[in-house]
Amino acid sequence: MTQGRLSVLAFGAHPDDLEFQIGGTLARYAQMGARVTMAVVTNGDVGSSTLPMEEIAEVRRQEALAAANLIGADLIWIGYHDEFFFHNEESRRRLIDVMRQAEPDVVFCHWTDDYHPDHSLSGQAVRDARIMTAVPNIVTEHSPLSRIPELFFYDTLAGINFSPEVYVDISDTFPIKKDMLACHVSQNQWIRDIFQADLTDLMEVQTRFRGLQAGKRHAEGFRALETWPRAADFSKLPLG
Ligand SMILES: [Zn+2]
Repeated sequence: MTQGRLSVLAFGAHPDDLEFQIGGTLARYAQMGARVTMAVVTNGDVGSSTLPMEEIAEVRRQEALAAANLIGADLIWIGYHDEFFFHNEESRRRLIDVMRQAEPDVVFCHWTDDYHPDHSLSGQAVRDARIMTAVPNIVTEHSPLSRIPELFFYDTLAGINFSPEVYVDISDTFPIKKDMLACHVSQNQWIRDIFQADLTDLMEVQTRFRGLQAGKRHAEGFRALETWPRAADFSKLPLG
């Protein structure tokens, strides 16, 4: 933990997931003076109809960096191949080490039943690595945490299979969120190519719908971890 300054770490499976689902909340944390770290689990290397894997991965890293820079967040580029993240000993150790590197008070990850296997499996892997971040006998590059961080799950794509229990009002930071997502030019193109959908439009509809549920203009929805030891300290969220 950073003394006196809240530290927030969000894991996204792909470059653009964090901007889409939690960009407004991360922008609020940044405005509060929190240390914000965005960790991207895969490198997005299949996200192009035209560029080879290494080239599109580098494009996507630059886009993620530009988005993180908009709110002064640190970017941790973990670098697994897109579509091929698996939850195993190696990946668990890697995610433990990323959490130790960022020293978070609060961690965010995908819900464990989202539409994409990289989303669901990385959500499970982050959830399951959380407690071990504070276990000294599990040795990784960075030092063990002094305290197990809080953990919250963020929304799924289109909100399917996800019922939020708490909402963050992002009405004020929605324009920043939109700008962050717009940094992902190549992903916007890819979503048009493969799904015939507009990424910004999807995000705006979902953010407005969660806002409707929350009685706000724009909102993002979250769930706490329900397993023991329960991570449900809502005071760690930028509420109110
Ligand atoms: Zn994704």
